[in-house]
Amino acid sequence: MTKTEIQGYQQRLFNLGKRLKGDVSDLSHEALRKTGGAASGNLSNTPMHLADLGSDNYEQEVALSLLENREQTLEEVAAALARIEQGTFGRCEECGREISKERLQAIPFTRLCIRCAREEEAEVPPGKL
Ligand SMILES: [Zn+2]
Repeated sequence: MTKTEIQGYQQRLFNLGKRLKGDVSDLSHEALRKTGGAASGNLSNTPMHLADLGSDNYEQEVALSLLENREQTLEEVAAALARIEQGTFGRCEECGREISKERLQAIPFTRLCIRCAREEEAEVPPGKL
């Protein structure tokens, strides 16, 4: 993977994290309170609003829908950014193989290659990745 590619993923992860934080008002209401935003303190069980993520990418939506909530997604995004800094980004945590470019483009915060992910997430419908 080239430095430019990694920077591209890093940028996408930053943006995704920012979007998610904007929605998680119970986590970041002090820093990110917006006028007219939801004031409710209990958003942790609110289903993901996939459309709000600005993605029409089916694979990414599938991946996001598997996560319990935004906070968990944020943790995955933060972990992926940490992996970029550690230089381990793009490698499967299970088998150590490189994760395919197509998969990373769809789900930049994924920890697993498609094979290991399929084994873990048995409900993932067969896709083209
Ligand atoms: Zn793997």
